[in-house]
Parts: sequence; C-alpha cells; structure tokens
Amino acid sequence: MVVVDRLMTVSLSPAALASLERRFGAQVRFGIPLARYTAARVGGPAECLIEIESATALADAAAWLWAQGLDFLVLGGGSNVLVSDSGLKGVILVNKARAAGKVRFEARSQPPVVWAEAGVNLGVIARQAAVRGLSGLEWAAGIPGTLGGAVVGNAGAHGGDIAANLIVAEILQREQSAVGISTSISQWSPERMEFAYRSSRLKKAPGQALVLSATLRLESSSREAVEEKMEAFNAYRRQTQPPGASMGSMFKNPPSDYAGRLIEAAGLKGARVGGAQISLLHANFFINEGAATAGDIYALIQLARRQVRQASGVELETEIQLLGDFA
Ligand SMILES: Cc1cc2nc3c(=O)[nH]c(=O)nc-3n(C[C@H](O)[C@H](O)[C@H](O)COP(=O)(O)OP(=O)(O)OC[C@H]3O[C@@H](n4cnc5c(N)ncnc54)[C@H](O)[C@@H]3O)c2cc1C
Repeated sequence: MVVVDRLMTVSLSPAALASLERRFGAQVRFGIPLARYTAARVGGPAECLIEIESATALADAAAWLWAQGLDFLVLGGGSNVLVSDSGLKGVILVNKARAAGKVRFEARSQPPVVWAEAGVNLGVIARQAAVRGLSGLEWAAGIPGTLGGAVVGNAGAHGGDIAANLIVAEILQREQSAVGISTSISQWSPERMEFAYRSSRLKKAPGQALVLSATLRLESSSREAVEEKMEAFNAYRRQTQPPGASMGSMFKNPPSDYAGRLIEAAGLKGARVGGAQISLLHANFFINEGAATAGDIYALIQLARRQVRQASGVELETEIQLLGDFA
C-alpha cells in the first residue's frame, strides 16, 4: 500500500467559499489546474487557490484559515508532490516569494549566515551565496522548489542537507486551547525539527505547523571556489539525472542500497504506463513525457514497489508526498 499524505477531499461549504472571497478578494481563484504548480506537470484542479508572496501574508492567511476551521495545504514549488487527477478540495496556498527583500546575508557574522523567507527558491539562495563568495550551499543549487519545502523535507544532495546548514527555522504553529484556536511563532533549532533522511517533524505531522523563514549557516570562501564546486555538482547532476518533468527521486534509498538500482534490477528501466516512464538514465526518476496523468505515475509507483518487493524483498518508501485521492 502507498500512503497518501494529505487527502484533501472535503469540499468547502458555500458559506466558506463566500467568506474566502470576502477575506482574500481577487487573490482567490477557483478550479485552477494544479498541474501548473507542480514540477511533474500533473494534478487536477484546486477547489480554491491563493498565491502568497511573503511570510507575513502566509502567517496571516494560515491564522485566518485555522481560526475558520478550513482545511488548507501549503505548496512551495510543487517539486516533491504528486497531486491526484481529481485535484484537491479545500484551500491551496501557493507560497512563492521573489528573492528581492526576502533574502538577507550576514557575511561578516561568525559564522556567516543567510536568512530567507520560506517562499524563496532554494537554488536562488545558493547562487546568491556563491556570488558573495559564501560556501556551504553548493549542494542546493540544482534542487528545485522553495526553502520552506526544503526545510520540511530536509532536502539534500552531494553529501549536504538542510539539517547540516540550518541554524534556526521560524515556525508558525496552530494552538488549540479551551478558548479556541490561536497561532504562535517560535524559533526551532535543528534538534526540535527532528530531521531525518528526507524528513522532519513537520513532514511527519502535516497541517499543524508551517515554515515562515529559516537561517542557514555558511562559510567564507571565494566566489571562484564556490562557483567551481557548484558547477561540478550541476555537471554531475546533468550526467546522471534525466531532464524533463519529474519529482526528482521517487523513492527514498533503503539503508545501504539505492532505490534506482533496485528498480533497475527488477527490470523496470524504461517501463511505461500511459504518458509516464521510468527513466532510462536513472530508474528512480519517473518522467512525464508530456501527456502523463497522476494516475499513470501512481500506477508506475505501485508497479515499482510490487516488482522490487518480489525481486529483492525490499519495501520501497516514497520520498515524494501523495496529495489527494488515489483510490
Ligand atoms: C528534477 C528534480 C530534482 C530534485 N533533486 C532533489 C535533490 O537532489 N535532493 C532533494 O532533497 N530533493 C530533490 N528534489 C525534490 C524537491 O525539489 C525537494 O524536495 C524540494 O525541497 C521541495 O520543495 P518544494 O518547495 O517544491 O516543496 P513542495 O513539493 O511544494 O512541498 C513539499 C511538502 O512540503 C510542504 N511545504 C512546502 N512549503 C511549506 C512551508 N512553508 N511550510 C510547511 N510546509 C510546507 C508541502 O505541503 C508538502 O507537504 C528534486 C525534484 C526535482 C523535480
């Protein structure tokens, strides 16, 4: 069985829809295809979608939605999720902030740090660090999506990950008391984030807390050295990972093995369902060749899990999150 991370199948009431329109005005849109907001370019309509451009707006929107008792989900770059073809009910907050004014470097502090809002693209932060001659985020340059999504999933590559860089994350939490629902903002250390391989406390308990911003540790270096290392990582990525619409690695690597190797050993390199294919270059990448549905990709996930279980007895666990109804 593949676990669905968020079902989001309960429709908003007419009264809730009306109050959303009153609260968010022209920002609220209805029935927008989520394929436009996901890296795999699949996913049915969002019942209600609001684009958010700052951490303050994210905190305000979330506080209001929690107080109203309305189900909502934050999407960053949509690069680590598979959204079902039937779409998602409730409210989708798309959190994407332009870097201007939302990223601050303190190059002279000890250690040097960068603070950024959760909606900023992680690769943009890494490249801005490089220009300033600040090392430590070279591994992140080729990872799509937002800083918030990276913190939630403890994104990592080339031996680095968010857990190793994070100094503190600013977290908005839902609080329930006898008086009602309120929110609080606090600074979480890496220990409190409970980071694990591609996981964190927030990923394990979705819907309870949001990342508003994060401060990452850097090191002084030179622009040339940082850019050279970054380019070497990017060249390796281009050589070993396929281009095209995907979610990156589909499954977590099991202890002391590789999901891609196991899928290849099960004879599934190049396997197709509809418009989706298991990459010929890297079997842990599932590619939308243009006309794939989420159902096609989901069928490939199930096929890979079944065949790997039969071939090697290993139970593959998805790295991506499944959102919506896949029944
Ligand atoms: C081509 C490709 C290559 C990739 N390579 C890598 C790699 O090398 N290493 C790696 O780790 N990953 C990789 N990924 C996966 C993905 O890019 C990362 O997991 C990324 O950090 C996800 O960020 P996002 O903003 O797209 O998150 P989304 O996919 O939008 O969301 C992921 C989860 O985080 C939650 N979320 C997002 N923002 C917030 C927030 N502010 N507060 C609370 N919850 C939030 C969402 O609700 C969802 O549950 C790759 C993906 C692709 C398509």
